[in-house]
Amino acid sequence: MDEKIKELKNIFENSNYIVFFGGAGVSTESGVPDFRSVDGLYNQKYDYPPETILSHGFFLNHTEEFYKFYRDKLLIDGIKPNKAHLTLAKMEEAGKLKAVITQNIDGLHQLAGSKNVYELHGTVYKNKCMRCKKSFDLDYIKKADLVPKCSFCGGLIKPEVVLYEEGLDDDIMTGAIHHITKADTLIIGGTSLAVYPAAGLIRFFGGKNLVLINKSKTPMDNNANLVIHDSIGKVLEEAWQ
Ligand SMILES: [Zn+2]
Repeated sequence: MDEKIKELKNIFENSNYIVFFGGAGVSTESGVPDFRSVDGLYNQKYDYPPETILSHGFFLNHTEEFYKFYRDKLLIDGIKPNKAHLTLAKMEEAGKLKAVITQNIDGLHQLAGSKNVYELHGTVYKNKCMRCKKSFDLDYIKKADLVPKCSFCGGLIKPEVVLYEEGLDDDIMTGAIHHITKADTLIIGGTSLAVYPAAGLIRFFGGKNLVLINKSKTPMDNNANLVIHDSIGKVLEEAWQ
């Protein structure tokens, strides 16, 4: 067995409060495109760059364009949890892992069976009428017209996904910080740590083991106890076995 995997296995065994913080790389292994990566959505043809389309102002002013992009790129059919999601769910069930904090909006952690999930950027599974605040599930959005309207009041429905220009949910941030503060081991996976609020959240960690698992180097590599440059799914599965 690889020395680093052995070391991670050892950390798992000697930890009682593991928290996982995951970025886009966790989902790309399920085939979800990362719109920030070089081979991601930036290179594809749209009239506006993704960070413009996925902004609050654009949603209000170009709702149809927003929903074209959203349906095409963010509502992906047939994606399934991968080894990373499934292993994290097992770790939670075993009582070792106390929380998953994710920047992804695809709900794959819950599909894998994780219960305590903090979705910093929201989720495509929740949608709300902007006028009467009635909630709608993903199925309703998928079956609706291009621009989904509320079946009660006819108002515009907005996905509960955090767009650019919008703030993060206070309760979710507070919960995430609570668990990071209490953790003895923080595993950060599938993120280059360049995207807000990842780097800021790590400052709250005061535990023993900071583990970074990412295919490429990150600015935090020198601060970690263990750095593994490999597939997050493969590493977690092997170390948990
Ligand atoms: Zn309504």
